[in-house]
Amino acid sequence: MISYLARWFKARSTTPARRRMGRFLGIAIAFVCMLAVTLQTGWAQSLPPSQVHPIPAMLTQAVQRLEDAEVGPGDYFDAIERKAVGYLIWSKFPVTVAIDPLGGDRWKLQVTAAVVEWQRYFPLKIVSTPETADIRIQSKRLALKPDPKTGKLPRFRSAETHYDVLVSEGSDAKYLNHRMTIDLASGQADGVILSVARHEVGHAIGLWGHSPNPEDIMYFSQVSKAPLISSRDLRTLYRVYGQPTRLGWAIK
Ligand SMILES: [Zn+2]
Repeated sequence: MISYLARWFKARSTTPARRRMGRFLGIAIAFVCMLAVTLQTGWAQSLPPSQVHPIPAMLTQAVQRLEDAEVGPGDYFDAIERKAVGYLIWSKFPVTVAIDPLGGDRWKLQVTAAVVEWQRYFPLKIVSTPETADIRIQSKRLALKPDPKTGKLPRFRSAETHYDVLVSEGSDAKYLNHRMTIDLASGQADGVILSVARHEVGHAIGLWGHSPNPEDIMYFSQVSKAPLISSRDLRTLYRVYGQPTRLGWAIK
């Protein structure tokens, strides 16, 4: 079972760089908490308006190639969540991805392969600076927590992806941005790491929801024969990138 959580990052490190980030994230947390109130009370002037960004050319071309080659079975756009900040999409490209060096060679190889698959359709760049990367993929053993109601252990979770909303300083203004963190369990079979990474990177680049179709990588559960990135996955991503968001825009 692959699940994801939206939760707010807590800066724990004591390095100056992380302290600076903690301050920004602290602003972000206050900001987001306020968001729920401001939207209800009409004080939303300080937030960026929800607007559409240009769609990455690479994604447009990938979808155009599909229309030529395949009879379209549609998409699962209706399953994608729109958050209070809007759709969780990127507007500065390439989107940078840092892969945890502590994951071990086998884990890193599979995770990298998943990112490379996405690079055929979406502008991603692998970097070695997790502090500033847009997407961080971390090797982690995820603890099984008993269900508070039943006391039973849930099914093993291979991965979780969560996002933080933060305010970052641009040269001219402050911007509302986000970052994604994928916690991906090590110690799984190579094929499982690859298919889980493919799915979680899909969440991190904007597919914040699950397909009802087991032939899509964004199906909610792992299947015995892991699918490749499907035309429905790409069409859905393309539609998501045509939607408005508050992310990536200047705060007035
Ligand atoms: Zn998922």
